[in-house]
Amino acid sequence: MPRYEYRCRSCGDTFELSRPMAESSAPAPCPAGHADTVKLLSTVAVGGTSAAPAPRAGGGGGGGCCGGGCCG
Ligand SMILES: [Zn+2]
Repeated sequence: MPRYEYRCRSCGDTFELSRPMAESSAPAPCPAGHADTVKLLSTVAVGGTSAAPAPRAGGGGGGGCCGGGCCG
């Protein structure tokens, strides 16, 4: 289960919670009971702006080229 870090805007405390990813944005009261908390960016989060090349072709497997207009 991933760990998420939160910061309380009432007392300024930071704390971590282990919770399902589906509840990562759910309200997380701080240990002192304050409900005004914000989720901090996890240091282990995987970035979404990788430079990995996205293969354009693919999907087939039969070796045909239908869809390109060269097999009619
Ligand atoms: Zn607090």
